[in-house]
Amino acid sequence: EDEIPEDHPRYQDLLTRHRIERGVEKGITHLQGMHAEGRGSAFDYLLGEETIPSADEAERAAAAHLLLADRPVLSINGNVAALVPGEMVDLADATGADLEINLFNRTPERIEAIASHLRDHGAEAVKGLEADARIPRLDHQRAKVDADGIYAADVVVVPLEDGDRAEALAEMGKTEIVIDLNPLSRSPRVAEVPIVDNIIRAVPNMTEHAQDLADASEGELEEIVEAFEREAALEAAEKRIRNGL
Ligand code: ATP
Ligand code: MG
Repeated sequence: EDEIPEDHPRYQDLLTRHRIERGVEKGITHLQGMHAEGRGSAFDYLLGEETIPSADEAERAAAAHLLLADRPVLSINGNVAALVPGEMVDLADATGADLEINLFNRTPERIEAIASHLRDHGAEAVKGLEADARIPRLDHQRAKVDADGIYAADVVVVPLEDGDRAEALAEMGKTEIVIDLNPLSRSPRVAEVPIVDNIIRAVPNMTEHAQDLADASEGELEEIVEAFEREAALEAAEKRIRNGL
């Protein structure tokens, strides 16, 4: 990372790619994660590589949801762990959420590599190692969750999530917050709060909002949640991307 000049016009994009490459080298990120990163990068380019106003609103609504939740959980996959490990720990601290590792390509080695990577970045408790419950109507590995984690959660943040799993979680009645740069992807489309933004910008901004709202009353938080319009947020992102073309 030290080799990437900060004044490079595409600094953030280079940094992101570099972190994914390091993640693959360290056994944290699956090779498929590099392809996901490439798709995300293309959408970010069209968005102007910035947090658009509708995404900022979504990030604020997401923070309010997390603060109101009884059992909030942040789901961590290989790309999330490579890109924003410390930032996810900060968000968990600011909102009282748990961190749970959840992988599409689950192996004991990757789970352990991610858990220790998160601990290196300040995480105290990491869930997802037991995987003693299953999400209904999902096949094999993708269904595995902790009974006292995602399975029992009322609000879940699922960044860069695949569509089937996002749908199955929504069917379980969870309030789902999805971070995904592609507003046409199924995951943001089933989310109660779709955040169309780069996870690198989205997570620190959610933490800032959560810190701003730390003293807000339940009524104020509920107002923020109610005022958020998911359809409008998706449309605003799509419009921005079309203009980008
Ligand atoms: P599918 O139709 O199966 O969902 P997909 O192209 O959406 O296919 P996935 O592997 O499911 O691929 O999801 C990767 C998603 O993550 C993509 O929508 C991509 O835009 C998004 N993404 C990748 N990198 C980032 C990032 N840094 N921040 C936010 N979203 C990202
Ligand atoms: Mg997708």
